Amino acid sequence: MKYHNLIPAAERHYKVEKEKDVQVSRYYGEDIFSAKVMQDKLPKDIYKRFIETIEARRPMDLETANAVAHAIKEWAIDKGATHYCHWFQPMTGATAEKHDSFIEFTDAGDVIERFSGKQLIQGEPDASSFPSGGLRSTFEARGYTAWDPTSPAFIIRNGLGTTLCIPTIFISYTGEALDKKTPLLRSIGAIDKSAISMLRLLGNQEAQKVFATLGPEQEYFLVDQDYYFKRQDLVLSGRSLLGAAPPKGQQLEDQYFGSIKERILSFMHDVEEELYKLGIPAKTRHNEVAPSQFEIAPIFEEANLAADHNQLVMETMKRIAPLHKLRLLLHEKPFAGINGSGKHLNWSLSDDLGNNLLNPGKTPHDNIQFLVFLMATIRAVNIHADLLRASVASAGNDHRLGANEAPPAIISVFLGEQLTDILEDIEKGKITKATDAAIIDLGISKLPVLSRDSTDRNRTSPFAFTGNKFEFRAVGSSQSISLPATVLNTIVAESLDILAAKIKAKRGDVKQAALDVIKEEIKANKAILFMGDNYTKEWEKEAARRGLPNKKTSYEALKDLKSDKALKLFEKYGVLSPVELKSRYHVRLERYIKEIDIEAATLVTMVQSQILPAAAAYQKALAQSIKNTMDVIGDGKELKPQKELLKLLSSLISEAQQQVTELKTGIEKAKTIDSEERQATYLGETIKACMNTVRRTVDTLELYVDNELWPIPKYWEMLFIS
Ligand code: ADP
Ligand code: MG
Repeated sequence: MKYHNLIPAAERHYKVEKEKDVQVSRYYGEDIFSAKVMQDKLPKDIYKRFIETIEARRPMDLETANAVAHAIKEWAIDKGATHYCHWFQPMTGATAEKHDSFIEFTDAGDVIERFSGKQLIQGEPDASSFPSGGLRSTFEARGYTAWDPTSPAFIIRNGLGTTLCIPTIFISYTGEALDKKTPLLRSIGAIDKSAISMLRLLGNQEAQKVFATLGPEQEYFLVDQDYYFKRQDLVLSGRSLLGAAPPKGQQLEDQYFGSIKERILSFMHDVEEELYKLGIPAKTRHNEVAPSQFEIAPIFEEANLAADHNQLVMETMKRIAPLHKLRLLLHEKPFAGINGSGKHLNWSLSDDLGNNLLNPGKTPHDNIQFLVFLMATIRAVNIHADLLRASVASAGNDHRLGANEAPPAIISVFLGEQLTDILEDIEKGKITKATDAAIIDLGISKLPVLSRDSTDRNRTSPFAFTGNKFEFRAVGSSQSISLPATVLNTIVAESLDILAAKIKAKRGDVKQAALDVIKEEIKANKAILFMGDNYTKEWEKEAARRGLPNKKTSYEALKDLKSDKALKLFEKYGVLSPVELKSRYHVRLERYIKEIDIEAATLVTMVQSQILPAAAAYQKALAQSIKNTMDVIGDGKELKPQKELLKLLSSLISEAQQQVTELKTGIEKAKTIDSEERQATYLGETIKACMNTVRRTVDTLELYVDNELWPIPKYWEMLFIS
């Protein structure tokens, strides 16, 4: 694989055909140190102890760790690895790796490959270069990474380098989480505990463990590498800051699910091959709504694994794109005027027997269980809509949420007609006695149909029930799914506990009590349910009447991360301490500030050093041509329109010049604002408005200036040439 990626697609195809090693099931998972590999390579007793340790979430003893480390090393070297790295997810949103070679000197001075249990379990990257959101002041600068054995180690091949990657958490010496995985793992523990208590209360003795499942549908854009390199904005900020709308955008609706072009399909093929080797179940691929926009969706997995895998999906696509002379754009809004990219996060709960707890069941018992978990989720979203909104707040996502292509910034829940009817019946007391027969009546005839129902879909809802899972549609394409998933797990854990306490307090028959509690909860949490079109102005007004939060910008939305309600919730569930949660707020706000600052400065440079010189060159040519014509035929009325054009061009150039000067002044002013919050507000309001003004003028100039002189690739080129 190392080299044949570089072979043009057609030859490549031939080669693959000849190799005949294309059956996915033959190589699926070959680059992960899976349970099966471990079983093969480890002594029986060590393997047993290893599994027990993981299941009990106990720290690994050194003997087991040493044995596992030795086995991993042998396996990795066999795969060509020379280095290992602790692979972790700092608060930047990307992943971090620090590579160390396996080599060590023996006493005799010879070089050998060695990898100890200690090196496997713990690493010490310097924490001071990662964002800590103020946590750094509370602990010494060093942090350490610790192995997360619930996500298997894997091999990454990049160019000539082959590296063993060990998924780890990243924490400070005083135990504070400096990453995204630690809180996610804690929330996975929290939802397990609360869900199991609820199941026991409802009489379910079989399930021993409950875990969240996630299926992130990843959207992305691809552009030709040559265009990409000619655009500073794409290289530096991930989105185009300039560009007039092309005559053809997505209005013909000919892109979505259309046939996939050869170069793109070859890219997808290579990506999937890499993902399959890593045991990542990439399942669906298709063209998206906008030109040059695509989607990749995996089969859902346990939350921790799914979060790691989504990071790997993004990284793999980024790594493979240049091999096809393409570049990947994960930004939420790379091109103005056409659809942006999101990441629908499908979320559900499953028990260790493989039962989906949000799947309406076949027995009355299953159905009451289903309704309780459904109600807990609805309640959680109603009480903590602000947290879900904050969990997806970013400069990039501000371009999407509320822009009528993605859900609005108002969080609401869509249930579908049948389920809404059922809940209404319960609320109205149409089902008063929870005899088994009544519940059969209530559920059995309707609920199973629901899980197959695809006609009843509302694409505009930010949080939709889709038969056997919820789909959170407000996540941005470039974001890690860890925080939204952490929030979901934690808020649902809390609601399960609250419902459980209410059910217990009612005494008597537990099913009747559960039904009574559901009835009360529907009344109390109705405001969050909305079946209509989320894109309308009416909904915005209606939502305001209902008291639902509607924070359109990140700097407003992020504040809810440090509300009393949030601090108490995350502390109570041991997911994030108040300092840890506040640090997330600071890191995200700081990132918001930096991103807009980079965009603004990039825009200034592009306009000053590329756009204005090109426009001036055309202005000069035009003036020269008018003058020359006049010399020959004299001044006359036929020159009037040309003079008008020159005037228009000249005034656009002056406007752009002046607007850029204002933007520069604004950027300087932003730097002098000493409060982070006010700085963010200033950038989000004033600077963004200035940037839009500059853009409007430049995009108009683009329509007049000689195409030959225009210094950067245009939208039509980037979007339609592939
Ligand atoms: P859409 O119509 O929105 O494109 P699909 O019904 O094809 O979606 O499924 C979308 C995603 O939902 C897939 O990635 C799938 O793995 C995921 N999914 C399905 N069931 C579950 C579940 N129980 N938990 C989490 N994700 C799930
Ligand atoms: Mg979807």
